[in-house]
Amino acid sequence: MSEQRLELKAPVSGVVIPLDQVPDPVFAQKMVGEGISIDPTSEHLLAPCKGKIIQMHPSQHAITLESEQGIEVLMHIGLDTVMLKGDGFTPLVAEGDLVEQGQPLIDFDADKIALAARSLMTEIIITNGDQVSRYQFTSGNVVANRDTLMTLELGTPANTDDIEQQGLTKECSSEWISIPNPTGIHARPAAALAAEAKMFQSRIKLERDGQFADAKSVVALMGLNVKLAEQVRIVAKGRDADEAVDALTVAICDGLGEDVSTAVEPATQPIEIEEEVSLLAKVSSDPNILLGIAASPGIAIGNVHQLEHQQLSYEELASDANAERNALTDAIERAKADLKTLQAKLQADGNVSNAEIFAAHQELLEDPAIFQQAKKLIKEGKSAPYSWNQAVQEQIKVLRAVDSDVIAGRVADLEDVCTRILKLLLGIDDEATTLAEQTIIVAEDLTPSDTANLDRSKVIGFVTTLGGATSHAAILARSMNLPALAGVDPQVLALQQGLQVVLDGDAGTLNIAATDEQIEQLRQKQQQQRELAEQAQQKAHQPAVTSDGVAIEVVANIGNVKDAIEACKHGAEGVGLLRSEFLYLDQATEPNEDQQAQVYTEIADALGSDKPLIVRTLDVGGDKPLPYLPMPSEENPFLGERGIRIGLNRPSILKRQVRAILRAHGHAKLKIMFPMIATLPELKAAKQLVQQEAADLGVSGVEVGIMVEVPSTAVLSEHFAAEADFFSVGTNDLTQYALAMDRGHPKLGWQVDALDPAVLRLIKMTVDGANKHGKWVGVCGGAASDLLAVPVLIGLGVTELSCSVPAIPEVKELVRNCSLAQCQALAEQVLQQPDAESVRALLQKL
Ligand code: PEP
Ligand code: MG
Repeated sequence: MSEQRLELKAPVSGVVIPLDQVPDPVFAQKMVGEGISIDPTSEHLLAPCKGKIIQMHPSQHAITLESEQGIEVLMHIGLDTVMLKGDGFTPLVAEGDLVEQGQPLIDFDADKIALAARSLMTEIIITNGDQVSRYQFTSGNVVANRDTLMTLELGTPANTDDIEQQGLTKECSSEWISIPNPTGIHARPAAALAAEAKMFQSRIKLERDGQFADAKSVVALMGLNVKLAEQVRIVAKGRDADEAVDALTVAICDGLGEDVSTAVEPATQPIEIEEEVSLLAKVSSDPNILLGIAASPGIAIGNVHQLEHQQLSYEELASDANAERNALTDAIERAKADLKTLQAKLQADGNVSNAEIFAAHQELLEDPAIFQQAKKLIKEGKSAPYSWNQAVQEQIKVLRAVDSDVIAGRVADLEDVCTRILKLLLGIDDEATTLAEQTIIVAEDLTPSDTANLDRSKVIGFVTTLGGATSHAAILARSMNLPALAGVDPQVLALQQGLQVVLDGDAGTLNIAATDEQIEQLRQKQQQQRELAEQAQQKAHQPAVTSDGVAIEVVANIGNVKDAIEACKHGAEGVGLLRSEFLYLDQATEPNEDQQAQVYTEIADALGSDKPLIVRTLDVGGDKPLPYLPMPSEENPFLGERGIRIGLNRPSILKRQVRAILRAHGHAKLKIMFPMIATLPELKAAKQLVQQEAADLGVSGVEVGIMVEVPSTAVLSEHFAAEADFFSVGTNDLTQYALAMDRGHPKLGWQVDALDPAVLRLIKMTVDGANKHGKWVGVCGGAASDLLAVPVLIGLGVTELSCSVPAIPEVKELVRNCSLAQCQALAEQVLQQPDAESVRALLQKL
């Protein structure tokens, strides 16, 4: 072996398998590095060359050896063997040991591992591939320590010197090239560029802004973090430097395998916009009262907790690599212990799906690729937090580039894990941010999962500066009976932590300096509301029949099994909308058909076989992200791939869900409903899929309905009614699409009012069309829970109201106090009003 070559002997006997055939994308897509795999027939892992053990994974299934030339060889026994936590592995060396080629490193029990893990395939990966210019792999069967598994040509300067000595060296560079790739040189273009560069003997670098990366190393190229429209050039030295520069210039200009035809140069000069007060803004005459949108009713008197996303800052460099490495190892161990405790607590509370998330996080902490990369950076003089963050971010970048929903879904988990370790390294104690009793959360915005995860024992309300009454955070707040305001003046973000405030979710106000007298009045109002709610609750199980004998079906909007149980307690006559996407908000991977069927069956059982359960198929997109279903960013997400469009474009997902729903048939009166139907072909295609799956499963009698959320569907209602068994009007979306105002828009959200006469007229058209085919119309948008809107909806001919769970008893009580005749007269009147404000004014007078 010369100095520029490194021969690695097979560390185990067995059959050689090319890395891209390993059934694990992390290895197959070479995210960890270049290498090869062996399906072993022996049970001893031997050193493939002389060197030093620089890492033994705590689970003893993976080990890294550094050769004398500084090449890092990671050997990973089996797939998913980290989960065995060392069971079946006997380490024979420790970190820091110097080993000879052929020396046993780890003994493993092949039978035991084969039974418990996915595969025994053992990967041999070079993790610092930037030091290797060429790989040569063997194939077929190998015998441990006898056969050469791979030969590495090392990229030492000696290569160039040889060429120089022969007088053959040329050095040349390209012109500056503007990167056309919309997301810059991320993993895939980096891999394409490196592959092209490896075709040449010359040493090739990519230069950006005085920084250089080895163009043959994917990791180095990604590390340069070149973005759209940034200027780069190729610098090559060697006998084929000219050809290399020319070929790589063309490759970069062509987009390195990506479609760059639509990429645009970013504006260079950001425009500064001065904030002005809108002519439509409602201004408070009292400086102590901040106005907002009434997002969820009720009064909350409590103390401000500003929910900020903490800035984690740290130095990039550190002087003591050993100390940094120990700090990182300690932090990982502590995090694992914390996660274990959390997992056990959630399991004990019966919160199995969240417990599983934290189990998955523990596995991520044991990922050797991240740990290796972090340690490499520490060795190069970087601090532990910097190295950890970089290593995770690199992995995230690679995962984002992988064309697999499942893998990309792990990004959210990795981000969580990254923050957990950073906080531990920086000594940021999450306990210190434990919420006090009677907390009112103040934040710019809350995602649906933020809202769902609020600690209900402490949080009594929330206020956001963004969003509106129909944003999903508001919907969740209503289902949780949590008073909430949205779209509040941003000055609320400057309120002191702990300040006492009064949130009135009915009036849409936040009083930041309430007098004792005002507080007393509000406490009385709170008391009255409680009494009325209690009275309604006592009659919750009685039917909702108007005084002139018309039965209105009052059902619930739910998001999980717990809601279904609560709904029954509140007198729901069934479920008018199961927002199925809410079941999976925290899930990193798509649940399989069996898992989905189990949840639907549990929900159906909670209701009983005599009650309707309308399951809406996944309604993702717009402002509703699903971690396991990452969507490419869109210019207009609310007008993009949303609702049923996703199901139609990815029929395998829709099919799995439909089958799972159908399998719960019989446990309740099951109906399937499609979201965001805008055209008849969409309905027909989705319905056909249901019919096929129903026939396949031998299920019959499942009604298929649609949400009416898009004006086109309301206008052509008559045609849709010929195909659909029922309609349910989604007033939240119907309003945003009728008014062309994003329901969660920070500045417009407050005007998205379902009582706008334009929306009410669309509902009337929907009912008229449905009546022609004898189909029924329900409402499951927020208007069904709005006590002002309920009589109008009944008057328009709506016969089913699907409400947030807490609103059910009061909606039922209101129905009992109405007569259809009065409601019809009222509906006639409001349809003639010019705007939402006049409608509300008219209804409030009643
Ligand atoms: C609606 O749009 O009114 C509706 C009920 O659907 P979602 O709020 O879940 O979009
Ligand atoms: Mg909707």
